[in-house]
Amino acid sequence: MHQRLTLLGATGSIGDSTLDLVARHPEDFSVFALTAHHNIDKLYRQCLAFQPAVAVVANADGASRLSARLKALGQHTEVLHGPQALMAVAAADECDTVVAAIVGGAGLASTLAAAQAGKRILLANKEALVMSGALFMASVAESKAQLLPVDSEHNAIFQCLSNHPEARPERLILTASGGPFLTRPLETLEDITPDQACAHPKWRMGRKISVDCATMMNKGREVIEAHWLFEMPPERIEVLIHPQSIVHSMVVYADQSVLAQLGNPDMRTPIAQALAYPRRMASGVEPLDLTGCEPLVFSKPDLRRFPCLRLALEVAHAGCELSVVLNAANEVAVAAFLAGALAFSDIARVVGQTLEQTAEVAIGSLEAIEDTDRRARARATQLSGLPPTRQ
Ligand code: NAD
Ligand code: MG
Repeated sequence: MHQRLTLLGATGSIGDSTLDLVARHPEDFSVFALTAHHNIDKLYRQCLAFQPAVAVVANADGASRLSARLKALGQHTEVLHGPQALMAVAAADECDTVVAAIVGGAGLASTLAAAQAGKRILLANKEALVMSGALFMASVAESKAQLLPVDSEHNAIFQCLSNHPEARPERLILTASGGPFLTRPLETLEDITPDQACAHPKWRMGRKISVDCATMMNKGREVIEAHWLFEMPPERIEVLIHPQSIVHSMVVYADQSVLAQLGNPDMRTPIAQALAYPRRMASGVEPLDLTGCEPLVFSKPDLRRFPCLRLALEVAHAGCELSVVLNAANEVAVAAFLAGALAFSDIARVVGQTLEQTAEVAIGSLEAIEDTDRRARARATQLSGLPPTRQ
């Protein structure tokens, strides 16, 4: 069936992969809306190529510049701006499927709007689950939205799950590449530059998630994400380092059958699986050469090397209540590191201290979550040594 897409975060890495797939299958997909934050040039090129009815950018100035350039070519894309417009295109009647690929907490409200509107949601924005798992899953259930995980590990698990409701898995195993600093001497971690942290050995991704992979905060957040998506207690979700990034995750059943999904590390595979679901479609990804690839190796993560993973696992095992604080503090600390204002090894310190120092965590409603998020960001900004206006 033909799907009309809203792509939230079109100019990012997930956005690029999604539009590559749309271009390969023009008969199956059309684009209703594309959104970007500040990259007007790239969104302009995407609008010319995919002819969306609506485009959304961060502010009025960007909107008028984009609108003028499109009108000059006679294109009728309506250009809107701001968070309300993101929510509107996520919930619009003219769209069937929402690809949620904005980075960070900024993507929460629009992803939630898609859930409340009962859309088919391809979920890349893991913050919707890390910040508001209970609320988000309740909205999905209430509106009968269809949730399809795009994060490669969760997509792998989704593919390995049995369709039969009585065949519940016993455990999940999330694989992690270990990032660029898996073997780097521990005493040199504080000298790491943003470009070194973003040079992931296997995946091409946006800078925020690349840093999260280097600290392994990403994997800790993925445990929380898997907990909500698959109703699995965090104690039964194991993390294994697998530097080859060929096995994308595994599901273990009571009879000790272990099912894994394999493929080259290219996000077009999980996105294509979710876009076409329940069918399959070509993705343009290189076929996996099992006899030519490196030997597949697995090991347990060293929590002294990856204190951010330890902090995230502690939050998960304590019931995920503090995960909104974990997310907020990490976003602030990673932004400070990327701006050259914080050492790599201080990211975990800022997150740990923010978790200790944020009182009164409320997560019952979107407003409560946003309030807790704001207070945690303010605390983390202070602990990063930044002036209050920076965030
Ligand atoms: P990216 O940085 O490459 O792109 C982010 C997109 O979000 C851009 O289009 C940007 O314009 C938009 N954006 C940023 N700030 C915004 C704001 N305040 N308001 C509105 N839009 C804003 O990020 P990415 O790597 O594509 O990741 C997107 C999401 O997918 C993240 O949540 C990430 O964790 C998740 N994810 C990414 C990958 C990957 O391989 N890239 C894999 C799994 C999950
Ligand atoms: Mg992932």
